Amino acid sequence: MRFDDFGLIEPILQAIEQEGYTDPTPIQVEAIPHVMTGGDLLGCAQTGTGKTAAFALPILHRLATHPHPNKKQDKHNARPIRTLVLSPTRELAAQIGDSFKAYGRNTGLKHTVVYGGVKQGPQTNALKKGVDILVATPGRLLDLMGQGHIHLGSVEIFVLDEADRMLDMGFINDIWRVVAELPKKRQTLFFSATMPFNIQTLANSILTEPIEVRLATEAPAAETVSQRIFLVERANKRALLEHLLKEENIVRALVFTRTKLGADRVVQYLTRKNLRAEAIHSDKAQNMRMRALENFKSGRTPILIASDIAARGIDIDDISHVFNFDMPNEPEVYIHRIGRTGRAGQTGVAYSFCSLEERLQLDEVEELLGQTIETLNDHPFPSPLPRAAKRDDKPKATGLYSHRRPSKRRRL
Ligand code: AMP
Repeated sequence: MRFDDFGLIEPILQAIEQEGYTDPTPIQVEAIPHVMTGGDLLGCAQTGTGKTAAFALPILHRLATHPHPNKKQDKHNARPIRTLVLSPTRELAAQIGDSFKAYGRNTGLKHTVVYGGVKQGPQTNALKKGVDILVATPGRLLDLMGQGHIHLGSVEIFVLDEADRMLDMGFINDIWRVVAELPKKRQTLFFSATMPFNIQTLANSILTEPIEVRLATEAPAAETVSQRIFLVERANKRALLEHLLKEENIVRALVFTRTKLGADRVVQYLTRKNLRAEAIHSDKAQNMRMRALENFKSGRTPILIASDIAARGIDIDDISHVFNFDMPNEPEVYIHRIGRTGRAGQTGVAYSFCSLEERLQLDEVEELLGQTIETLNDHPFPSPLPRAAKRDDKPKATGLYSHRRPSKRRRL
């Protein structure tokens, strides 16, 4: 299957070529033809699978080929909002906006992105000029709707992205408030990396006869990411990180710490050791986070220390190394973290630091993966207690989510 086979209009095909894409990804193969014909979609796919293009390309096609029927009758705006994309985080919203910009560059369709934590003036100015596509985080969207800057009565296509993260972040009531303002007759596209019961329930209530696209996430990046565990005590983790960062051929390294304070301390330590690093987490002001992300993207700062929530959805292809400076509390988070590298067909490296206190978490990760990760203790900061020989009777997981423990989801 090639992009030409979908019947997308020429300006979109040109943009795809300009992006350098040759073949559609599996989710694009499934989703694009269906979305082009106006059908609802339930997509179970993570960031990194090409899901943004899977919805953005057919949306642009539909908007360009089906001009708004009653443009003149829209009492609020000459150019009504025809597509609303709801995203949990500012970073992801900005990335989706960038995708619409890139794929829609030859179509003449207009888009804008609204999110909180920044002044609303530039956003309301863009809205006044009129946009076909609005990408928004829930809080700022509702705020601007309340002030009368946004009207959703003309929305034809509604996209809910990263629904599981939305619920984790406590946005469920906001989602319902937004859905209540949307026309009943619309196309809805719903994406979530995981499909627990509450997400399925939400999907059932806002979708109409959707097709379901579930990507085989059973082998998440496992083929392209080489994983290693370093047994190391907590006090030596920073020195080990410094050692590996200096030893290895790092293009871009994303380092996950358990706490925000921990992230800041790692940055301070690496800076003292003449390594350029910045932290991105929710205590940082929005402009600082954006700047850190830009510096990371451009390569000016090759090391980014992140909390899980801030890093979710970071869409940067050339991350050569992911470091789990701390083991994650939830084994599923490990999968999300290492999925930041080895993307778009490239290879990646995921190193995890495991202290004595974290060995249980390591067991849980391996159980979820259904495989044993190579464990190293012959490095400059070995743990005094090497890992016991592996048990052969470890239950093998058949699929990634088949060993989910009873959920104890936290509000992140
Ligand atoms: P996403 O899952 O939407 O976050 O996309 C992950 C990355 O894959 C993005 O950097 C896209 O630019 C890239 N991408 C999307 N579709 C394709 C494709 N068909 N071929 C190559 N790269 C792609």
